[in-house]
Formats: sequence, C-alpha cells, structure tokens
Amino acid sequence: MANSKYFLLPAGVPLALAPFLVLFELISYCFRALSLGIRLFANMMAGHSLVKISSEYVKSFEVEDKLMPSTWIVLRIDGRHFHQFSDKHEFKKPNDERALKLMNACAEAMFEEFPDLVFSYGVSDEYSFVFKKTTELYNRRSSKIVSMTVSFFTSVYVMKWKDFFPDKDLKSIPSFDARTVCYPSTKIVRDYLAWRQMNFDLHLLGKGVFIPTDYKLATAFSFVGHINNQYNTCFWKLIESGMTKSEAQNRLKGTQTQHKNEILFQLEVNHSDLPAIFRKGSCVFRGKVTE
Ligand SMILES: [Mg+2]
Repeated sequence: MANSKYFLLPAGVPLALAPFLVLFELISYCFRALSLGIRLFANMMAGHSLVKISSEYVKSFEVEDKLMPSTWIVLRIDGRHFHQFSDKHEFKKPNDERALKLMNACAEAMFEEFPDLVFSYGVSDEYSFVFKKTTELYNRRSSKIVSMTVSFFTSVYVMKWKDFFPDKDLKSIPSFDARTVCYPSTKIVRDYLAWRQMNFDLHLLGKGVFIPTDYKLATAFSFVGHINNQYNTCFWKLIESGMTKSEAQNRLKGTQTQHKNEILFQLEVNHSDLPAIFRKGSCVFRGKVTE
C-alpha cells in the first residue's frame, strides 16, 4: 500500500480481473479489521480470565473458619516465652505489679477498640476476652479475630511499655499467641473463667466478686481450685530467705494450703494481705454509667 494508486488493485493486473480483485481485496480489508479486533479483544481478556480461573482455584484451598453463631466467643491471649521475657526485664517474682498493670492497660485498650467485648479476665501473662453472642466482628471468622486482636494487643503492650516502665528499655520483642473458643451457654463461660482463675488462686472463695452489669458472669469466681499463686508466693519467699530453687521446691513438695500458709506465716507474710491483683487477677468489663 506504499502507492495509493494501487490500493485494492495490485500493479499489472489485467483489466478484466480488476472488478473481482477489487471486490476480494475490499472483503479481505474488512475482515482484517474484524480479525484484528477479535485478536486484540482475546489478548485483553485472556489475562483477566486466567487470573479469575486461577484465583478461584487457589482460593478453594482456604479453609472456612467461621465460628458458631449465637455463642460466646472467648479469646485467650497468652504471652510467648514470658519466663525469659520477665527474667530479661527483671520482673519482680512472683508478681510484678507494673507488668500486671500494663496487661490491664492493654485490656482496656481492647475494650475501646472492639465494642462487642463484654468481659475480660487476666492473670500473669494471659488475658481472656469474652465477645457477646451476637457479635459479627469480622464475620465471626476466627483467623481474622485472632490475628487482628493479638496484633492490636501486642502493639499496645509495646506502645504503653514506657508508661509503666519509664526506667526500663524494652530489651526483647514481646509476643503473644491467641485462640478462640465458642461457648454456647453462660454457665460454661463461667466454668471457663473459673478454670483460668483456678490456675491462679482460688482459695479466697467468694471474695473474687466481679460484677459485669449486663451479663451475669459474676459468679464465675465461686469455684474452688488449686492454689497456684499461693505456691508461687511461698516459693519466691523461700528463695528470698536464702534457699536455692531446688531446696524451695523440696520444701513445698506435697504441702497443702494450710502448710503453705504456715510457711508464709513463718516468713511473716499473710497471703490474704497481698493486694487482690496478685491473689485474684484482674477484670475489665463495661459498667453501667449512672447519669
Ligand atoms: Mg502464660
């Protein structure tokens, strides 16, 4: 088509063939436009189709992790390698008030961030959070709830560290694991919370009365169990009095509550005089505001 004179008619064609050739050339030009259009369209769409097909295929491997509807969602966040972490930062044994208050501050921040939280209970390096039964947080997807909450909690822990430990730098990275469990009834949530406190200290039966106003979880703590915190208090007091760790362990082997109280008495410690935060743990919940 370098020379427009020969457009639709190649040079040297006998005149008799000219009408046919012009017709054929014309048809061929029209179809070329059409075929190029189809090619261009196919090239444009192929990528999209491939992505769509492969994304559906790849997505089919994702596991549905939606939590049961109409159940309490309990989220437990727990410190990872906190023995080493507390040694490194010289936390007081067995209870470091500032470290516990930092955990409580993180729990309070959680309540500000996640409006569907109704109750929480924390001891040592762990905190359990109860979401209301009707929550639709992240469409009740466990992995989303776990990852969002635990990363939020950890970030608050780091950000608020200096508020509680102005004299100490963070020397290692704190991290927490988390899990969700669904409980269908309030009674089972109470039993769950009692179990967490049981790991801690329950000998002060009935004194651990925490009253979340809207949800009747208060009696969670009327449950008697093992006295872990009392053991720890004894253990560390014996260490303070000059025993080695194995000597203290041997001294406490097989002792009952009464014996441990006697040991503490000899060391001039009355376990029930210790601050409640040490003996019972902490709760954060929404209270009713009276105007
Ligand atoms: Mg723990």
